[in-house]
Amino acid sequence: MKTIKDINLDNKKVLIRCDFNVPIKEGKIVDDTRITAALPTIKYCLEKNAKVILFSHLGRIKEESDLEKNTLAPVAKRLEELLNQKVTFINKTRGEELETAINNMNNKDIILVQNTRYEDLDGKKESKNNPELGKYWASLGDVFVNDAFGTIHRAHASNVGIASNIDSCIGFLIEKELNALKELDNPKHPFIVVLGGAKVADKIGVIENLVKKADKILIGGGMAFTFLKAEGYEVGNSLVDEENIEFCKNIIKDYAEKIILPIDVAVTTEYSEKEEYKAKDITDLEYNEMGLDIGPKTEKLFEKYLEEAAIAVWNGPLGVYEFEKYKKGTQDLLQYVVENNIKIILGGGDIVAAASTSGYKDKVYHASTGGGATLEYLEGKTLPGLEAIK
Ligand code: AMP
Repeated sequence: MKTIKDINLDNKKVLIRCDFNVPIKEGKIVDDTRITAALPTIKYCLEKNAKVILFSHLGRIKEESDLEKNTLAPVAKRLEELLNQKVTFINKTRGEELETAINNMNNKDIILVQNTRYEDLDGKKESKNNPELGKYWASLGDVFVNDAFGTIHRAHASNVGIASNIDSCIGFLIEKELNALKELDNPKHPFIVVLGGAKVADKIGVIENLVKKADKILIGGGMAFTFLKAEGYEVGNSLVDEENIEFCKNIIKDYAEKIILPIDVAVTTEYSEKEEYKAKDITDLEYNEMGLDIGPKTEKLFEKYLEEAAIAVWNGPLGVYEFEKYKKGTQDLLQYVVENNIKIILGGGDIVAAASTSGYKDKVYHASTGGGATLEYLEGKTLPGLEAIK
């Protein structure tokens, strides 16, 4: 795979697709992790004397009223602060103003183009990879660097479209993400997978792909209850994905020794944290109770397997971590892997958000910036954003 180090950037107009899809509330950026993650590539291009033109999407654009709340203007400001230099924000995704600004650039100047999904208002041109749009954006530069790991599993005009038209490579962020994930292609053993989150349906592809390679799959979160029900336990009002009970039964039948389910859970009778914390063995759940977290015995059980791990990957929280009371299982296990230096990859999305709030994100071996992209990689799918560069 061609990386940024394989391309001559000197004096070139370098188009960089970043992932600046950051949470913004009332015009203020709540978490700038994705912006800071893009800095190594941007700084490298500046050092190499390039003209830097940045693209990103932000949120979804379905109607006119989505435009203003999804403007990239606050990102331009934050970038200026982080890079300590002017970032020219062009409030357009095409046209004379953008073209003139690019033509007037000096080396080491930076332009940020407005949210690529502004093009979605007119027939989803960005999200559906309209060929004319990809070609147009490519015509604005000399080379293309894709560094938006978060959208690498999608074929958009601003990644696949541009890459299909000019000399292209991946940036440092994508390279780092792929290097970590590649360790799971032929993993060292024991290879332990931790899976949580809401629905079995979202994780079927991952389970099917990883169950062959993994030594153990530790299952928590809402999805555990579909497996437990498949095993014949009373799970009360816990989240159950009825349509996938059969799938769970088959996986347990074929890989009984690999699938590790909770032995106790934190229960309540309503989906809230009003009731006192109560952990129960999985054999004792009442018809009117629901499990919102793994229990302390399950934490110990999961720790026992993780202790041995040569490498591990974790996707999805083990409980409803949005509730203070039921984030215990997720937080305790995160603490355990950090304190015991267990080589673990956090697969983006909610588990990285949970690790971020507790300060563990920067202490784990790798925390991915792309939930959907990592999930598709773990499912063994090809990633269109990478294929276009290959
Ligand atoms: P996912 O996007 O599939 O990783 O799911 C994340 C969501 O799963 C979070 O919003 C959690 O609140 C939810 N979740 C985790 N454990 C449970 C549970 N025991 N019952 C219901 N929802 C859960």
